[in-house]
Amino acid sequence: MKKVIMKFGGTSVGTGENIRQVANIVTHYSKEYRITVVVSALAGVTNKLLEIACQAKKGDEKLVKTFTDELLQKHKETVTSAITSKVLQEKVNQIIEEIIVELGKVLTGICYVGELTAKSKDYVVSFGERLSAPIVWGTIQDHNLETQCFTGREAGIVTDSNFGEADPLMNFTIHLVRERLGPLLEKGVIPVVTGFIAANQDGVVTTVGRGGSDYTATILGVALSVNEVWIWTDVDGILTTDPKLVSTARLLPQLSYQEAAEMAIFGAKAMHPRALGPVSKENIPVRIRNTFQPENLGTLITKEPISNTEQAVKAVAMIKNVAMLNVNGATMVGAPGSYAKVFDTLGKNNINIMMIATAISEANISVIIKRSMLSRAISNIEIALSERGGLVSEVTAEDDVAVIAVVGAYMKGSLGLASKIFDIVAKKGINIRMIAQGSSESNISFVVKEKDGIEIVKAIHEEFNLDKT
Ligand code: ADP
Ligand code: ASP
Ligand code: MG
Repeated sequence: MKKVIMKFGGTSVGTGENIRQVANIVTHYSKEYRITVVVSALAGVTNKLLEIACQAKKGDEKLVKTFTDELLQKHKETVTSAITSKVLQEKVNQIIEEIIVELGKVLTGICYVGELTAKSKDYVVSFGERLSAPIVWGTIQDHNLETQCFTGREAGIVTDSNFGEADPLMNFTIHLVRERLGPLLEKGVIPVVTGFIAANQDGVVTTVGRGGSDYTATILGVALSVNEVWIWTDVDGILTTDPKLVSTARLLPQLSYQEAAEMAIFGAKAMHPRALGPVSKENIPVRIRNTFQPENLGTLITKEPISNTEQAVKAVAMIKNVAMLNVNGATMVGAPGSYAKVFDTLGKNNINIMMIATAISEANISVIIKRSMLSRAISNIEIALSERGGLVSEVTAEDDVAVIAVVGAYMKGSLGLASKIFDIVAKKGINIRMIAQGSSESNISFVVKEKDGIEIVKAIHEEFNLDKT
């Protein structure tokens, strides 16, 4: 029998009714495939956990109690509408109650210590998936299928200790996952695994980055040598742009790993940016499908892009919540190591650089980072560079910008594309703040004020006829 990983995102498990739909899909395909299910937290729960963790740090114990009560209520209501068997309902509710008690203790601990480290933050957010997986497990049982529930750690996913953005230790993970899930699959049991969360070698909880359930799915896909990985979400697949921004966005039936990865990096939320790494090495196809329109085939992601050299530009994305940091100063010219100092400082502070541009005069370097990291970046760069004897005269920032990325495998070698893109922007009278082209040449990205972003996305979508096949 063929093997498949089915990952269901937050909206797919947002309500009890939706979870029943998930179980229907699993039931339908269980006749044809050996299935491993990966689940996200219920929609919105991860964000709420992050918020309460920050509030707990300020010592508000009362808030913690209200929060855990509400979270328990929400999950219990979901159980009631997802599962029909009273016995199963009780079983799942009991598991959920125990997990919530543990969460209460963790949050109270943070209240008392008054400190929230990357490590404890991962522990707190892990509760989202720990709470959703038992409900999906119970609902699949309610459909009379044999199933077993696992956390990422129990399934055998071992990562490094880069809390918040951990990566798997792949060889070790493959060995453990095969040992733990392989025999179950052979027996026709359906493992339900929490997405997003894993553990380091010491068994301490880690997470693989926001939207990371996709990554869990592809890691398991490689470990179990599946035929395909299916990412079930709330849209038909990967589209030419975010359908929430442009209503004429069109489904892309086929993409290469490279194209899909570029789109993911630049904000096509439909896929976690690092998720395609493991599967592309093994050539395992990934399909993005709509939980609520399961008859549609979705987007198939494979090694080769379909040969359509006519269409150089395939998609356009906008990434919000970013900031531009500029380091300026004539004294940077010819001073070896000043760029390195900037990168080193950002790296040491766990600040990911999304885009870089420098001027040929070497008097300026601009980088794009997550907006939430901006103040940490500015203060640390100022400290680091002041140690170099006032080498840099100025660190400035703009926190109201967005990156627009135009993506397509055949953009490589397609003349005049950049000028066409920038012409479209210029005609709108909009100022470009920064430009970069990846060396893969399958994307051109630039930075504008965030308020202008949607207008540009719409214009590029229209001028390149992305809404038409
Ligand atoms: P899930 O909860 O299933 O992981 P996400 O919210 O992470 O779902 O991703 C799905 C969302 O990504 C869609 O609802 C859509 O608004 C957004 N999105 C942004 N860009 C694109 C794109 N190019 N194609 C498809 N979806 C996109
Ligand atoms: N629940 C996690 C998040 O919201 C992981 C995921 O949904 O993929 O980021
Ligand atoms: Mg997602």
